[in-house]
Amino acid sequence: MPLDHPALSAADPELAALVGAEEQLQADTLRMIASENYVSSAVLEATGTVLTNKYSEGYPGRRYYEGQQNVDPIEALAAGRAAALFGADHANVQPYSGSPANLAVYLAFAEPGDTVMGMSLPMGGHLTHGWGVSATGKWFNGVQYGVRADTGLIDFDQVRDLAREHRPKLIFCGGTAIPRTIDFAAFAEIAREIDAVLVADIAHIAGLVAGGAHPSPFPHADVVSTTTHKTLRGPRGAMLLTKEAYAKPVDKAVFPGLQGGPHNHTTAAIAVALHEAAQPSFRDYAHAVVANAQALAAALAERGFDLVSGGTDNHLILMDLTPKDVPGKIAAKALDRAGIVTNYNTVPYDPRKPFDPSGLRIGTPSLTSRGLTTEHMEQVAVWIDRGVAAAKAEDEVALKVIRGEVAELMAAYPAPGLPVG
Ligand SMILES: *Cc1c(COP(=O)(O)O)cnc(C)c1O
Repeated sequence: MPLDHPALSAADPELAALVGAEEQLQADTLRMIASENYVSSAVLEATGTVLTNKYSEGYPGRRYYEGQQNVDPIEALAAGRAAALFGADHANVQPYSGSPANLAVYLAFAEPGDTVMGMSLPMGGHLTHGWGVSATGKWFNGVQYGVRADTGLIDFDQVRDLAREHRPKLIFCGGTAIPRTIDFAAFAEIAREIDAVLVADIAHIAGLVAGGAHPSPFPHADVVSTTTHKTLRGPRGAMLLTKEAYAKPVDKAVFPGLQGGPHNHTTAAIAVALHEAAQPSFRDYAHAVVANAQALAAALAERGFDLVSGGTDNHLILMDLTPKDVPGKIAAKALDRAGIVTNYNTVPYDPRKPFDPSGLRIGTPSLTSRGLTTEHMEQVAVWIDRGVAAAKAEDEVALKVIRGEVAELMAAYPAPGLPVG
């Protein structure tokens, strides 16, 4: 259901039409990209405020610009809410997004050329955890761990061995395609042994942590990095949460180390999202996201889908489509035409190339925000199964039929600009 944008429509009809089309697309489709969500109307409004007009380099009470009467309390509110929600001593809410937040952590605790350790990208890690094509892999010596081929689970023997051998300054845990609970305590034990800073990158699972559906990285991690726009259901942005001893270097790294003025409209929207995430209804949401993912995983497994690690503990499912005899990219593109939006993804030990891998990654944060429940997951699995079969058969008519059925269901669960109950 498209929103009203009278000023935008009058000033720039071409752009307004594209925004309207995107609103329609987000309303009509089953959005299953694991890192995406729908923000509330309140969060959407906060991002569209006059706070976008304001410069405020520095931190509350220590700014390089005047006129901070309202911006200071807004940032203090966001930071205070973040620290309280995640049990951190300190929160920095200024990072522009997850990647710059992680770069700030390198700047705070390492020198170029130092060794750092993270999960390798094809095993489920993030580019910014020291992968070669990323600045973090070019400027630092990235040592990478993975998952076991037989279980699909993180290989802690390998993590410990690599840590002892290479003695990284930083250890990153967390990633973008990890369907299982992250054992922060196990990482902390290894980090302590070699005196490394443990960074938990909870970008994907922050909302689950906030809602009590995934264990907290504190007190195990020294620094917690997170985006605000994935399961946490806030605007596009990021935060760095720390124990007290790590607060100062992190703040200095974000500003003046890496960034200029913070995006105050985003900070305001983060504050709103954190307020929403502190409500009892958000706990229900977080648990519903996991329940939906588990119901969907079971329904997919029943239909012969090969799930990495055999299932999920969180919001995401990673499938190896090799048994279905359809490459991930072909499947993702066909499902998109069927109104099911996903992304192709490498799977651990993937014999295919990263730009044309074997896997498909899906998640339940968005459709849970729309109000879909475990009752709907059988139907979603049926659509995915039919869509993948149609991809293989190159049956465009079948994809069109699915698209109509998806739109019909989603019409009963309005978006975007979701009301939050
Ligand atoms: C999404 C993500 C990031 C990067 O966030 P951007 O906002 O896209 O820069 C970093 N780390 C992890 C684990 C992520 O999932």
